[in-house]
Amino acid sequence: MPTFVYMTSCDGCGHCVDICPSDIMHIDKTYRRAFNIEPNFCWECYSCVKACPQNAIDVRGYADFAPLNHSVRVLREEKKGVISWKIKFRDGREKDFVSPIRTTPWGSIKAPSEYAPPGKAAFAAQELAHEPDALNVPALPALAREKLKQGIL
Ligand code: SF4
Ligand code: SF4
Repeated sequence: MPTFVYMTSCDGCGHCVDICPSDIMHIDKTYRRAFNIEPNFCWECYSCVKACPQNAIDVRGYADFAPLNHSVRVLREEKKGVISWKIKFRDGREKDFVSPIRTTPWGSIKAPSEYAPPGKAAFAAQELAHEPDALNVPALPALAREKLKQGIL
């Protein structure tokens, strides 16, 4: 279900443009409002929906899911740390979903290039890059030979 922008709610801040992995959210040069230039190429990741501070982006339901008079409203409730979805079907039924959003401050995540390159020992370790620090845990459980049914040769 690709996204679309309510132009009357959009203020042209460009957050959706910055975050879209498919590079299809653009700012209209004349109206200074965002629009989805190619809904067919939308990944449907909804990063733009979640990033929009104006609640100006919605989801266009597919015909088999919500035809005629339906709506899919997405509300970002930053203070509560959640995204609320309200799905309205044409027969009047409504479904509400609430999912948590990451509350990490905007721009505070380091890019991979800002980390030191892994040393030789890291290639032999079971952890992935930046684990366990990036997970905010002291250590990850490791596989031990005695715990495996067939052991390790
Ligand atoms: Fe881009 Fe994802 Fe929004 Fe589609 S849902 S326009 S891919 S950010
Ligand atoms: Fe408009 Fe929202 Fe995109 Fe900002 S993030 S440009 S308000 S649609």
